[in-house]
Amino acid sequence: MTVVIAPERTRHFEDFLAGTDGGELFEKVRKLSELFRLDPPPCTDGLGLLLQQAPGPITPIVDDHGGCHDVIMMGSNSYLDLTTHPRVVAASQRACQRFGYGMGAVPLYAGNTPLHRELEETLAAFLEKEDAILFPSGYSGNVGVISALCGPGDVVINDAANHASIFDGARLSGAEIKVYLHRNMVHLERVLRRLPAEVKGRLIVTDGVFSMDGDVAPLDRIVPLAREYGARVMVDDAHGIGVMGPTGRGTPEHFGCPGGVDVLYGTLSKAPGGVGGYCAGSAELIRYLRLYARTFFFSTALPAPVVAGALEVFRLLMEDPTLHRDLWRNVRYLRQGLRELGFDTGQSESAIIPIIVGDEERLARFQNELRHRGVFTNLVTYPAVRRKDCRLRVNVMRTLTRADMDRALVIFAAVGRECGVIGPR
Ligand code: PMP
Repeated sequence: MTVVIAPERTRHFEDFLAGTDGGELFEKVRKLSELFRLDPPPCTDGLGLLLQQAPGPITPIVDDHGGCHDVIMMGSNSYLDLTTHPRVVAASQRACQRFGYGMGAVPLYAGNTPLHRELEETLAAFLEKEDAILFPSGYSGNVGVISALCGPGDVVINDAANHASIFDGARLSGAEIKVYLHRNMVHLERVLRRLPAEVKGRLIVTDGVFSMDGDVAPLDRIVPLAREYGARVMVDDAHGIGVMGPTGRGTPEHFGCPGGVDVLYGTLSKAPGGVGGYCAGSAELIRYLRLYARTFFFSTALPAPVVAGALEVFRLLMEDPTLHRDLWRNVRYLRQGLRELGFDTGQSESAIIPIIVGDEERLARFQNELRHRGVFTNLVTYPAVRRKDCRLRVNVMRTLTRADMDRALVIFAAVGRECGVIGPR
């Protein structure tokens, strides 16, 4: 199975949709099947990796021929690699014994356990907020929080690179959506300045760490702007909490402004290595969300084994500073190594390191060849980023050894040169 780009008439993956508007609903479904019958088929090979065991620094994957081979794992968001930590697994197993593998009800009916409440309290304490609320997924939590807080007549002001779930929450809310250029504070201020005085409901939302770039939102400038123009600030720190700041408390800690963030949003799916979303803030805000965030109210609670595992992860984070320190040792080493080889790693300041390629065909060859030679990375193109900004996403894991990273750098260098991503030596 090799990566190939769709032929000219379906040059872009989404082109199969052209002309299906207004037709019978399953017309698009049929057209996509047709596309997959083409020889060569469309470029989807880098997607849908099958793991043979928990993601770790070296992970066996199912290869092209159905066999199994090891890759150096640089495509997982489990930055701290705690999913298989003995304490996390033991806590999760105990919870499974006691509460079973699923909750069977939404939180406000019969879906809550003392573990859920303890995790909410632990998250609030860790993030220095009064309370927190759990959501079944990171995606659904963003949708629930934004659509509960904002409505018609309000405005949601987004960084252009915000996660899709933020935009979807904003759309569902019925509020007006404004977008400012990525991390561009001059543009943000212009948007704020031009808002009519009668629009009082103003929410600035930004990722803390941007998931496709690994750069960070300038909260030290966003917070004062919000105060000046009477806006509230929401930060989705899915990739920041556990990673950014001197103690891993996230991007607000990195900028020394935790108090300036009104709505602090995170996921249990990245550094914590589980699944779920949460929002931390004032006790009043959280009580409001419990009653008005529909993706909380109408959606079954997180399974207790996941909650217990996450609880143990945050305990570990608070007890053991070496977890965060070791992750950063690896981030610095790998980022520097990639930069020295001549890769364009953008403005990355986190455990996400992009390698900008800018040409989809070259990117597909690059990612595929890396995978064959034993380094797994994520292929990122439209709709996650603009095509001309297509890139690899390299995620750093705490438990990678120096030898793993050196081996990966040798492979990056060789494949990067062969594919023309970097120049010859
Ligand atoms: N926010 C951001 C910034 C993300 O990167 C993601 C993960 N793709 C989400 C929200 C959604 O989180 P989850 O995958 O846990 O639903």
